[in-house]
Amino acid sequence: MELNVEILKKMARAIATTTDKEIGCDDCFEFVDIFVESQLQGKNPAEAMPLVEAHLNRCANCHEEFEALLVAIKATTDNNH
Ligand SMILES: [Zn+2]
Repeated sequence: MELNVEILKKMARAIATTTDKEIGCDDCFEFVDIFVESQLQGKNPAEAMPLVEAHLNRCANCHEEFEALLVAIKATTDNNH
């Protein structure tokens, strides 16, 4: 039982630490174009930039920006073919 309490305490600390590292809209905006480009290149930007991914998931404004960029860059790429 004591062990479970310790695990819960560690988990709570880990969650608190993650929250500390959250990025804001300004930071997200700086990285969102890189995020979109690497996604279109078939890479896994969510793995490379988990903080950007986390912000996009909880911020409607930035998610909108992300989707607009996705469409815009995809259109540019298609025209190059
Ligand atoms: Zn945002």
